[in-house]
Amino acid sequence: MKYIGIDIGGMSAKAGLVNELGEIVAKRTAETDKGTDTVEFIANMVHLTVDLLTDCSLTLDDIGGIGLGFPGSIADEAGVVRYCCNLNLKNVEFVKLFRSGLDFQKTIKISNDANCAVLAEARYGGAKGSKDVLMFTIGTGIGTGIISGGHLITGNISAGSEGGHTTLFVGGEQCGCGRKGCFEAYASATALINQTKAAVLKNPTSLLAEAVEKGGLNGKVAFDCAEKGDRAAMEVVDRYIKYLGEGIVNFCNIFYPEIVLIGGGVSNQGDSLIKPLQSYVDTNVYGKEYNPKIKVSKATLGNDAGIIGASLLCTL
Ligand SMILES: [Zn+2]
Repeated sequence: MKYIGIDIGGMSAKAGLVNELGEIVAKRTAETDKGTDTVEFIANMVHLTVDLLTDCSLTLDDIGGIGLGFPGSIADEAGVVRYCCNLNLKNVEFVKLFRSGLDFQKTIKISNDANCAVLAEARYGGAKGSKDVLMFTIGTGIGTGIISGGHLITGNISAGSEGGHTTLFVGGEQCGCGRKGCFEAYASATALINQTKAAVLKNPTSLLAEAVEKGGLNGKVAFDCAEKGDRAAMEVVDRYIKYLGEGIVNFCNIFYPEIVLIGGGVSNQGDSLIKPLQSYVDTNVYGKEYNPKIKVSKATLGNDAGIIGASLLCTL
């Protein structure tokens, strides 16, 4: 049976028809915008679904269900989108309204997009076959997906698994959530860019400063210059890995996973990120002398994880 998975973001919604092997056999994208009201947003998602099926010469009767991943706070069981800061959705009975707009009686499931990503990676991707998986998606913020003992951990009314907002430094850097010192205020891609910017101001004659002047600020430039031996860049990268590693170790000490997956744009640094993170976890996790090694690895499904994982919500 095929399922539809829809990965909703602040700029676009990507819908895919996913087969029994977890392969996306057709894809279609629609724009999303914070200015779109709820009624129009739901109508757009209905159209996106119908258009995808039409592309494949299929109808709603040919699919087993539809899953949707949102970048926000979702009450999974109730089918309610509580809040998405990049979309105009607040306490929306999404499943009910989408179901009636589509006139579809089979399964419709929704969840947070980080939960979708970890489901996909644990079934088909970098953590295939593992029952205890932590996934950190590093982007504007840090999304966390937790599978423990084979179960997706979301907390009461699925309000939990917001690992980006655990505290790394009490009273530290201001976080977008309103609190200070959150993990994501130190280890997100946004934080890495801010740390790079500060290093450029402090070291105006460094290779890092020169590279930023030429190519602009991004989450990659410090890694590139560190590889060339630039001291200012090496300091940025070492400190960033310590922040990220420390946050990851905190979660490892609670869940003790078999594998930690790193996703999002920063994970494209590959070994120059993964190897030092692996060594940080090896050195710092509690009980390291006696317990199995925790593998740190790059997520493998990339942007498809959101679509595949959303479709998997229907099979939980
Ligand atoms: Zn926060």
